[in-house]
Amino acid sequence: MKLSDLGEFGFIERLARYAGTDDPRVICGIGDDCAVIESGRPGKVLLVTTDLLQEGVHFEDATGPPRLLGRKALVTGLSDIAAMGGVPMFFSVSLSVPPDTSVSWVEEVYAGLGERAAASKTALIGGDTTASLKDRSLSVTVIGECPQDEVVYRRNARPGEAIFVTGNPGESAAGLRLLRARAAGGPGAPGASGEESEDFDHLTARHLDPEPRLFAGRRLAADRHASAMIDVSDGVAADLGHILEGSRVGAVLDARLLPVSASLQRACARLALDPVILGLSGGEDYELLFTAPASLDEKALSRSLELAVTRIGRISDGPARLEIRDARDRVISLAGGGFDHFRT
Ligand code: ADP
Ligand code: MG
Repeated sequence: MKLSDLGEFGFIERLARYAGTDDPRVICGIGDDCAVIESGRPGKVLLVTTDLLQEGVHFEDATGPPRLLGRKALVTGLSDIAAMGGVPMFFSVSLSVPPDTSVSWVEEVYAGLGERAAASKTALIGGDTTASLKDRSLSVTVIGECPQDEVVYRRNARPGEAIFVTGNPGESAAGLRLLRARAAGGPGAPGASGEESEDFDHLTARHLDPEPRLFAGRRLAADRHASAMIDVSDGVAADLGHILEGSRVGAVLDARLLPVSASLQRACARLALDPVILGLSGGEDYELLFTAPASLDEKALSRSLELAVTRIGRISDGPARLEIRDARDRVISLAGGGFDHFRT
């Protein structure tokens, strides 16, 4: 059997079976955005998350500079800390690069890591460096902290609750497609009109330099508003699927409610893509997707999180199935559903 037969998530499930632990200091092991472990400090737990960025899969020289790669490498971990409601504290970095890599490339990666570290008050505490034969990879582990009774898991969504998302999912995927199209001389190529080039700058920045939603994640946890939460790394539909499986509930998403920014709408028209499909299945948004009482008002929530929040659906009684309805109340089916490392 090959990994592509299992898929990324089938593989992780299998791993958890073999490598699961009954150590009581592990409050939550494999299966959420971060592991949750005892801190030794009363009332506080540690959060730990690791992410790996691989050349040719997550990044390529043609689409982004190394400083932004460094920024994004830390943000992928910060975003997982945000999705548990925590505060980041420390990080380590492992780097695998061929010997002919220029020193300035590595320095730029670290400059980017340093910028995001300073902005989030997260301290570099170590890492590892090895030579690789060909491609480059960068792995970041972030350690954070959270009051134990405020940690937001994927497993506590309840029927009747509303589903909310921050920002504009799909913009990152549109940005990536624009970068690829530009490399091939398509929309967004130098010399494009003012609006087209503004859209290009905005959407490619969402892909290359996403924001970790740390303030919003912490606030949702401290105010006890979010019952379940995940960050959108694989796409809204796929990541909501993880909440549904974890919580053993179903969900109905109303595709008409999905926020579509003007720049996403225009870029999709130029690329001949459906912005709603991109919003549901595009990955690497690093927005927060969470469930909360249906009585919560999205405007009040947006004010308190200092970030646009949109209600996109509701949690229903199990089974863990996601139903997506379009403007004519027809069920939409998403082939593939989201990003899976072994199936794309
Ligand atoms: P995220 O997208 O939030 O970073 P992933 O989908 O990568 O989360 O991982 C889901 C869960 O599986 C996490 O708990 C993670 O720690 C665990 N996991 C992923 N890959 C491995 C691995 N190779 N070994 C052990 N645990 C893993
Ligand atoms: Mg995550």
